[in-house]
Amino acid sequence: MKKTDVLIIGGGPCGLAAAVGASKAGAKTTIVERDERLGGILMQCIHNGFGLHLFNEELTGPEYAERWKELVSASKNIGIITNAFCFNLEKLSTAHSTMHGISSKKSGNLGIMQENFDTMQGVNSGGYLVSASSVEGIIEIEAKAVVMALGCREKPAGAILLGGTRPAGIFSAGCAQKLINVEGKKVGKRVVILGSGDIGLIMARRLVCEGAEVVGIYEIMAQSGGLARNITQCVQDFNIPLHLSTTVTRVVGEKRVEGVFVAPVNEKLQPIKELEKFVPCDTLLLSVGLIPEIEIAGELGLEFNPVTNSYTVDEYFQTSSTGFFCAGNVLHVNDLVDNVSFEGGRAGECAALFSKSGLDMSNKLEITYDDHIKYTVPKYIYNNKKGEVKISFRVNKNYKRTIIRAMSGGVEISKRPAPAVTAGEMQSLTLDKSKIVNDLHLEIEVME
Ligand SMILES: Cc1cc2nc3c(=O)[nH]c(=O)nc-3n(C[C@H](O)[C@H](O)[C@H](O)COP(=O)(O)OP(=O)(O)OC[C@H]3O[C@@H](n4cnc5c(N)ncnc54)[C@H](O)[C@@H]3O)c2cc1C
Repeated sequence: MKKTDVLIIGGGPCGLAAAVGASKAGAKTTIVERDERLGGILMQCIHNGFGLHLFNEELTGPEYAERWKELVSASKNIGIITNAFCFNLEKLSTAHSTMHGISSKKSGNLGIMQENFDTMQGVNSGGYLVSASSVEGIIEIEAKAVVMALGCREKPAGAILLGGTRPAGIFSAGCAQKLINVEGKKVGKRVVILGSGDIGLIMARRLVCEGAEVVGIYEIMAQSGGLARNITQCVQDFNIPLHLSTTVTRVVGEKRVEGVFVAPVNEKLQPIKELEKFVPCDTLLLSVGLIPEIEIAGELGLEFNPVTNSYTVDEYFQTSSTGFFCAGNVLHVNDLVDNVSFEGGRAGECAALFSKSGLDMSNKLEITYDDHIKYTVPKYIYNNKKGEVKISFRVNKNYKRTIIRAMSGGVEISKRPAPAVTAGEMQSLTLDKSKIVNDLHLEIEVME
């Protein structure tokens, strides 16, 4: 049995940042990664566009991962176990769920209590036992706190209403990306892409660069789910046709894809049969959404958010089970890796503080918001007047011009004009907690 203060499951950008955060906060930290190397999905993203916010540079995915691997190597007390798949997680029985009379240090803006120990939770609160399958057999690790940083997996064909046959030539976009970028293989010559999220857009450009013809990208929604910069740089600059409000209805082909039928959709997103037409192609790429890899925590009975398909967290990135943290793409699908690193770093730091001195969980407050907003991360904050809190959220559709406001006690405590707010791009507001009274409500005023 191995023992650690903070166990991080997943060694992608979230897990790496979590390890650095936990180590800086003085915790003995262990990363467990199922792959043979660290870096997560970044290792197959050879295009640039990573790290613009954090490093002020346009790095490729592997370059961005390398920066974090160097930071991990330079940090103290981080153990790394690769080729190990975590398959089970249990909460250990609670020794003392509330800490009394142990002094703690104040750290940054984390809202660590110095005097009121009755609300400090952590230290002796049981911990977790994680089992991983590795080349050396089953490893068991006991941790005082866990950060879940497992990322997402792609939705397969079976998860959408796609009729017709299932011949060779149907790939998820991420799988095609790995085959081309990591294994140097060709996936097809004439390609149709279903879905216009960022992975689909990036793969459209990649396939053209590899000599394939991308016949078209078909998107069922009236707008693309991808970043504006990816629509310009990956689609428009390469003259790839993007068909909005249109979907692929069925696949044709026995051994290999011979083509697909496509049709525009009505306002209920149902295909208009009379307008269906055949598009010859030998490959269909699916970029139809990502599913957070949350299953490992299934037995903990955590509070769930059906909008993100993941768990809810508080401002420490802690789920409804104390000492169990969740960040990065497994928490909500992020468009920018910089945000993933921010979340991971904070989750790791908070997990370390939980394990060492406890976290202030007094005066828990649920963030509310108007109909323009789909969800917020975090869902809960602690109304202790200390430091700042960053709130990330997504809107339900595209708006040309808006004002984003945070209200508390009926008073505006923060506002920011936001032009071109799109459903695909994460928005955020950083708030001074000393201005929060007894509620926190986010509003979007639509100007255009
Ligand atoms: C095609 C594509 C293009 C992108 N382009 C950009 C871009 O241009 N700019 C940008 O900023 N962002 C981009 N992103 C987004 C960015 O890459 C992701 O937001 C980020 O990688 C998510 O990090 P993560 O650590 O949460 O998840 P991941 O990177 O998915 O890492 C999760 C890790 O957990 C491991 N794991 C999963 N399950 C287990 C288990 N049971 N046991 C042990 N380990 C496990 C996985 O092997 C993986 O290493 C892109 C993403 C994709 C897919």
